[in-house]
Amino acid sequence: MIRLAIIGSTGSIGKQCLEVVDKLGKDKIEIVAMTCGYNLELFKKQIQKYRPEYTASMSDREDISENTNHFTGEGGIKKAIQISDPDYIMMSVSGSIGLKYSLFSLDYCKRLCLANKETIVCGGGYFLNKAKMKKVKILPVDSEHSSIFQTLLGDVKPEEIFLTASGGSLRDKNPEEIQNATVNEVLKHPVWSMGKRITVDSSTMVNKGLEIIEASYLFDFPQEKIKTYICRNSFIHGGVKFIDGSMKFHIGKPDMKLPIAYSLTYPERVVKEEGINNLDELNLNLEKIDIKKYPSLKIAREICGIHSLQIAYNAADEEAVKMFLNNKIKFGQISVIISKTLDRIPELNNLNYNDIFKIENTARILANEVNL
Ligand code: MG
Repeated sequence: MIRLAIIGSTGSIGKQCLEVVDKLGKDKIEIVAMTCGYNLELFKKQIQKYRPEYTASMSDREDISENTNHFTGEGGIKKAIQISDPDYIMMSVSGSIGLKYSLFSLDYCKRLCLANKETIVCGGGYFLNKAKMKKVKILPVDSEHSSIFQTLLGDVKPEEIFLTASGGSLRDKNPEEIQNATVNEVLKHPVWSMGKRITVDSSTMVNKGLEIIEASYLFDFPQEKIKTYICRNSFIHGGVKFIDGSMKFHIGKPDMKLPIAYSLTYPERVVKEEGINNLDELNLNLEKIDIKKYPSLKIAREICGIHSLQIAYNAADEEAVKMFLNNKIKFGQISVIISKTLDRIPELNNLNYNDIFKIENTARILANEVNL
């Protein structure tokens, strides 16, 4: 019986995690804690169905629950993690707050199922060292990283790693159209249904940039050997190439429930899914990425391994995406804000907890001050 805490149950990954929990069944998994941000309408329904002993939310509205021990605020979410005594924690909050919860979680669980990119990108070596010290197993939930993790099981260190990208909603537009793309155009993702920021990040390929950094840390691999291609149907998620020229690719339907389930059941495969049936119809075409269309992807490669700039890259993007979604800037200006923010951040490594959040805060302020 797995005792699971879900941090961020009302988001896209959180909801799909609950579907996986349903499939696993009550005799295999129990939700001991569940937390959310502000979507209390959905959260109340989830609490009614899953009856976790402890719950927490960022929102402090009082009508949330009579039957459970409910805590509020950042401290409340940490308290729910601590007091519920979970075996596994699903970290499915978005944004850099996820790093705070992930670091905290390392003291209270055996396995951290990680769907929060910022934990690795902003936590860098500081986070991974602590995870190692605390002997907490990190299971990547990001589909590409789960794929690479799976292709590497029982094998040697590869020569190259592959990550695929769908290309996002603007993949067939020319650079000028991309520059002026509207919010509605950008939010229509061709393959995945996800939160707003990550959908915008798919179109700028900031998401892929963050994933290159994530892969570089998770698999201890230089960024120049992490290759990226467009796979339009996202059937290939990732893969590896070995010294003898052999390659392994992970293929599956673009469905986040697959990596979520694997992170919970590893090393077993328990959840039954139909998968892809007609292999003769399986199109595994990979395309080169036109780097000119995705300046933010180029920036990510340049800063990979420089901890302070990774933090600033993520923070500046988060701010720029907010501005874009509020129609304050053009789509093409997201990468300009990132680049100009990075220009003003010193290159630093070996950061501690306070450094990380100080740089993050500075980067957010600088991002909002950029003269376009
Ligand atoms: Mg991904």
